[in-house]
Order: sequence, then C-alpha cells, then structure tokens
Amino acid sequence: MTGAVVTVGDELVQGLILDTNSPYLEEKLLELGFQPRLSASVMDRVEEICQILGLATMKARVTLVSGGLGPTEDDVTREAISRFCHAPLELHEGAWQWIQERLAIKGLTPTPQHQRQAYFPQGATLFPNRMGSAWGFAVNHQERWILALPGVPRELRAMMEGEVIPFLRERFPGITPMTLRVLKSFGLKESQVNALLKDLLQEHPGMGLMVRDYGEVHLRLCGPPGEVEPLAGEVRKRLGHHFFGEREDSLEGLVGSLLKDRDLTLATAESCTGGMLAHTITNVPGSSDYFLGGFVTYTDQMKHRLLGVPMETLERHTAVSRETAQAMVEGLVKRTGAGVGISVTGIAGPTGGSPETPVGLVYLGYRFPWGTEVLEHRFQASRIGVKTLAVKTALDHVRRRLSRGE
Ligand code: AMP
Ligand code: MG
Repeated sequence: MTGAVVTVGDELVQGLILDTNSPYLEEKLLELGFQPRLSASVMDRVEEICQILGLATMKARVTLVSGGLGPTEDDVTREAISRFCHAPLELHEGAWQWIQERLAIKGLTPTPQHQRQAYFPQGATLFPNRMGSAWGFAVNHQERWILALPGVPRELRAMMEGEVIPFLRERFPGITPMTLRVLKSFGLKESQVNALLKDLLQEHPGMGLMVRDYGEVHLRLCGPPGEVEPLAGEVRKRLGHHFFGEREDSLEGLVGSLLKDRDLTLATAESCTGGMLAHTITNVPGSSDYFLGGFVTYTDQMKHRLLGVPMETLERHTAVSRETAQAMVEGLVKRTGAGVGISVTGIAGPTGGSPETPVGLVYLGYRFPWGTEVLEHRFQASRIGVKTLAVKTALDHVRRRLSRGE
C-alpha cells in the first residue's frame, strides 16, 4: 500500500520555516503500513496544489496534505482539493456552530472570514480540531483518499493521533505495518559501507545509505517487519564494531551507559578540542554520575602546571606528540582518580601545520584500568571538523574498549 505527503505553505517553499510535519507524517504512514512514495512542499496556490495532487494520487492510495486550512485569504488548500475532486464546497452547520462557540468564548464576533473554515468539499468526512479552529477532512476521489490536516504541528499531531489514524485503520483493515530502522556506523566512509553491503543494497529497495557529518554513516531499512528484522541482523554483523546504535543512540550516550554499568568514572584533558569533548560528554543528562571533569590545557605551561607533563617531554617531542598525549592522560588520571581518562592533542588548523605535524594530526591518549594507549590520527577536515572528529573518535574508541574489548 502506498502513501504520499504534501505540505502546503509559501513559507515552507521559501525556506522561512523548517518543514517538521513531513517527517512526522511519513513515519506515521509507515507505521500504518503505507510506503511513502512522494513527499513535496508546494506554495499556497490552487493551481500548484492541484498539480501535485495529480502526481500524488497517481502514486499513492492515501495522500496526507498539511497546511493552508486557516481562515485567511492566503490559505487555499480546501479550494484546491474541492477543485481537484470536483466536489463543491458546502457549509457544514455543525462545524460553523462549533467555530462560533469558540469565538464567543474568546469574546470575538464571527465574521464571513471565520465562516470560510466551516466549508468542506461535498461528501467529505470531517476531523474536528481539539486544539485550534481548522478542522481537517478526508475525501475519496477515484479510489484514492486525500486527507487535509492543519499546518500547526501540535494541531496536526493531535488530529493524526485522535482522528486520522483510527480513520485509516478502519478503512484499510489487515494492512501490514512497516518497520523503519536506522542503523548507525562510525569510522567507515560511505564507499566502504557501500562495499560491505553492496548485494543487500541491490536486493532491498527499502534500504539506503545516509551520510552524516563527521564519520557517521547511517543505514535506513524500511519494509515489512519480517523482512527488516533479519536484514538488520545481517547489516549489524557486516558492520562489526563500526555499528554503534540506532535512532536515538549517540556515542556519548552509549559511553555514559557503559561507564555506569561498569561503575567507572571519566575525566578529560584537552588541547586542540578546547573543551568540546567535555561539552559533548555533558550533553547527556545524568552525566554527573560518571563524569568527574576536564582540563583544557592549550599551552605547554598549562599542560605542565595542571597535568604534570614534564617540560622536557614538551620540548623534546612538542605538544603534538604521542609522548605528550601519554603524559597528559597519565597526569590526568593521577590528579583526578578517574577510572577512565582521555587526552587530546593535535593541530586543528587551518594554520599552524608543518611537514612534521600537519593540520589534522591528532593524538588521542586513553587510560583504562588495564593500561594506557595512544593512537595517532590524521583527519582531513575543516577546523571544526578536525575537532569534532577527534571528539567522536575518542568516544567511539572508549565505547569499543568498554563494550566487548574490541
Ligand atoms: P497554515 O495552516 O498553513 O497557515 O499553517 C499555520 C502555521 O503552522 C504556519 O505559519 C507554520 O508556522 C506552521 N506550519 C505549517 N506547515 C508546517 C510544516 N510543514 N512544518 C512545520 N510547521 C508548519
Ligand atoms: Mg498558511
């Protein structure tokens, strides 16, 4: 079974507001068992809404339209649907009565403008709005359903949950809900993920890659649960330790859970990331359960004074070196008593690089209860990119070490 989503509003097309209704409606369609085949935003113009309805109804049995149901002249969705379905607009007494009562409570006098919202295409099923004045409606046109819903996100959501979902379930009994899963990987390039999953991507049209900023590639798996669940298992297996979680999972959240499970504390010593690692760790609610704190030691003097990095190490090997990263993390754990320590030192660029220490060279030091490790990385990215990659790589490494010692 197929679905489509059309959002209406000049402000959406002109980029003035972010369309948050489409992702919500697409997810609801999937949960109901309708594969979304089209998603589009159009301007508040009768002609353009009719054009997109032509395409949407060609592709989909159910088209959800949001927006353009307001009382003002610029909202024309009801006129467009009426014209598209050749169903003239008729005044609905019940809705008009309800609108007048709502206005009276607010001390307002009804005007012909307000009455616009009580007109619906002939034969439409109405969806009352518990949170605002724009009622929604459904019309059946040549075996296709077109449902008009308010644009205001909280009104739309309330109407979907309260009216539209039961309406569609009743009209399409026995339809299989679709599952949408997102599997997240870290540390592989898009081409590497593609190579690992090539045959699966070819076999399953409901599967796709989504490249996320800074080291993450996500896999989208969509289809009937019987197909998606085994596929997800196979994808996880092939991604190996690069797989880190699903929808709501973040590297920092997973590290936090692993530390709590193992009763370990964490501390950080940062140079080139300037506190970004501590910031990311503390984005997780409840991180005070395991995060002791961090040092931001940008200069050699601060590395020496706060972390006890020997001046000799700094002079001989420079601040961006394996030796400094190791001395930083060891000094950090000595001073804080943390179970796990992370140190970061590197060149974020774009200036300050040299042939020996090029931009993007980063050393990450780790201190675990079982020993110290220092890893060298060469990131190719902007300044913020190098910082972010350093933070995520450090968190991912701790996640892997704490989860299965990978
Ligand atoms: P409308 O019913 O088209 O006049 O929409 C009312 C308000 O809801 C707009 O001014 C927007 O602020 C908001 N809105 C409409 N459509 C969307 C959408 N697709 N995503 C997020 N907000 C929306
Ligand atoms: Mg509008």
